[in-house]
Amino acid sequence: MYIDVLLELKNKQLDQTYTYKVPVFLEKEIKVGKRVRIPFNHRELEGYILSVKDSCEKNFEILEVLDVIDEEIVLNNELLKIGTFMKDTYLCSLSSAFAIMLPSALKASLKTNVNKKFETYLSMAIEYKKAISLCTSERQIDIVNGIKKAGFLQKSEANKISVSSVNTLLKKKIIIEQKEEVYRLQNKSREQDVKKVLNEEQKIAFDAIVENLKKHHKFLLHGVTGSGKTEIYMQVIEEVINRNQTAIVLVPEISLTPQFVSNFKARFQDNVAVLHSGLSQGEKYDEWRKITRKEVQIVIGARSAIFAPLNNLGIIIVDEEHSDSYKQENSPRYHAIEVAEFRAEINEIPLVLGSATPTLERMAKTTKNLYTRLELKNRVNKNLLPICISIDMAQEIKKGNSIISERLKTEIEASLSRQEQIILLLNRRGFATTITCSNCGFTYKCPNCDITLTYHKTNHSLRCHYCGYTTFKKENCPDCKENLNFYGLGTEKLEQIVKELFPDIKVLRMDADTTRKKNSYETIVEKFKSGEYNLLLGTQMISKGLDFPRVSLVGVINADESLNIPDFRSGEKTFSLLYQAAGRAGRKDTLGTVVLQTYNPNNPILKCVEEQSYEKFYMYEMNIRKKLKYPPYYFLVSLKITSKEYEECSKEATKVANYLKKKISDTSIVLGPTTANVFKVNNIYRFNIVVKYRFDDALFPVLKELDKLFVLNKKVSLEIDVNPVKI
Ligand code: ADP
Ligand code: ZN
Repeated sequence: MYIDVLLELKNKQLDQTYTYKVPVFLEKEIKVGKRVRIPFNHRELEGYILSVKDSCEKNFEILEVLDVIDEEIVLNNELLKIGTFMKDTYLCSLSSAFAIMLPSALKASLKTNVNKKFETYLSMAIEYKKAISLCTSERQIDIVNGIKKAGFLQKSEANKISVSSVNTLLKKKIIIEQKEEVYRLQNKSREQDVKKVLNEEQKIAFDAIVENLKKHHKFLLHGVTGSGKTEIYMQVIEEVINRNQTAIVLVPEISLTPQFVSNFKARFQDNVAVLHSGLSQGEKYDEWRKITRKEVQIVIGARSAIFAPLNNLGIIIVDEEHSDSYKQENSPRYHAIEVAEFRAEINEIPLVLGSATPTLERMAKTTKNLYTRLELKNRVNKNLLPICISIDMAQEIKKGNSIISERLKTEIEASLSRQEQIILLLNRRGFATTITCSNCGFTYKCPNCDITLTYHKTNHSLRCHYCGYTTFKKENCPDCKENLNFYGLGTEKLEQIVKELFPDIKVLRMDADTTRKKNSYETIVEKFKSGEYNLLLGTQMISKGLDFPRVSLVGVINADESLNIPDFRSGEKTFSLLYQAAGRAGRKDTLGTVVLQTYNPNNPILKCVEEQSYEKFYMYEMNIRKKLKYPPYYFLVSLKITSKEYEECSKEATKVANYLKKKISDTSIVLGPTTANVFKVNNIYRFNIVVKYRFDDALFPVLKELDKLFVLNKKVSLEIDVNPVKI
């Protein structure tokens, strides 16, 4: 018996199969999708079995497999197919695709000690009366009685009574101990949540999906914020599991934490496994095994949960379809929705994508009937969408209100007097964005990156938000010893200003700095939900899918912030962020108010937010995309050329661009090379090339060629990003 093995290395040069001979004693264990240990170049490596065959034509010496690693198959047929799809679509190596499908606890190369977790239980070895008669102390009797009561006792609990008594009882063989495997994430007992009666709009959407449960059909569930999309997902999933099938639900990393998961667990109890990056390796490994052992039918998770090894999949649901978090920003640069489309297609099952602000790409597909659009125009219980007011900050500054406008201040006061809650959005963390000397012009810049450092007041540090470089602020300008000035506004400073303006209220701040610790995000959400705090301020994190019934006012401090990002999607991102943030206001019974502070009150995108009109935004933005030849009218591939050496990097980038121009179709457009937005990160120079194309048979073969070429280049690297979300 011979097998073809793919090495478990990310090295693109070695991304091919190698043939090995199977010694007879291992033959029984060999199966496609298991991993083996093999000799390679005088080393011992691991690899995936991709095929098994009886003979081998090669006439040189073939080495023997050393060992089979897995008892069970780790890459089933479906995952193997998805791997090939990813290799073809994203030009990544097959082994890098497989690597992200498996929990890292499985990877021996990491030398992790993550393993199954065991709990030791004590139980009776002899009859109860006899046991009691053999006890020589009060505490031994307590332990025996404890075991009698429930039939068993956790050893750790018994040890709390007395370690020596436990040992004596064990030695005398009065009790015995048994190790049992336990999962790290235990489902705490919860209230059973009851299914809601769907309203008319929900029912229409539900019926449309359920009618197509046995077919491959793609749906875009376009529902305003608070329209009850999650309830539809849950009821559809109930149908699916009643048919003995399974379901994957993807949500953005950030909304995974408290509410969404607990809603699902309240409805489906132990039938849910959860996968996200907040879990420890051990927890991930356990959740993964619940899936492979077929103990759960529902998997909820972030991006990589699309690879959950569920069998008999019945539906894939992706909530907040517009979220950037579905795209992986390093190799393999896959988009979970594209993988979901493929997986739904090969399983012949429906795919449901939900959003209040669908991406233009997806929306455009509904007009071509590639997706069926299901609309929820109303909030559950017919609550109205909030009223939106724009404030021209140029006028406010003249009045001396540079950060919080007069109107926002009065609205905050009004909300407070009604004992309602307030959310303030400022999409920039830290205290001040730059510190500058007005005398000599000195600014603190990152020595590794082409960017200014952000001042964080809590520990007086200056930090680079790209590479993490940290330094400390001097009292005066390091160059000329004059005073230093703060410019720009971050959430930390906003917090200080709000506290000064409203000294009696309780304020919470949520941003990357206050949510670093495990569970801190949940803690902030729970604290705010409890009603003990009046105001929550933070970055975009606060705008994502949170449901705070007592919030009646949302203030956007600098609505222009993301409009100024140099990316063709900045308008779309801004609309989505502000529309979603606005959606946090007035979710229950109260009519919400949204105050947008801006220096561009006539900006068309902000006008669309003000009117809460996705349709207007869609028409406006599609028109621009058409004129500028951007998606959804054109497809994009971005090529990133990076190097420690500037000259070399620039030269290679130009060569690549010229080569592309020569080789690909003349209906395609090659832009660049240009320097990246942040030109230098971590001392690495970055150039970008963007290819816009519609139909181009020559493009992918040329990209593959370039990719191969650069694998051998030690000085300059090339990374290809197919359908990039940021350029
Ligand atoms: P979305 O995800 O569309 O923003 P949610 O799913 O968060 O909306 O729903 C908003 C609220 O409405 C939730 O508290 C949910 O429990 C409730 N809800 C959803 N559907 C119904 C229904 N048919 N009847 C009553 N309440 C509902
Ligand atoms: Zn830096």
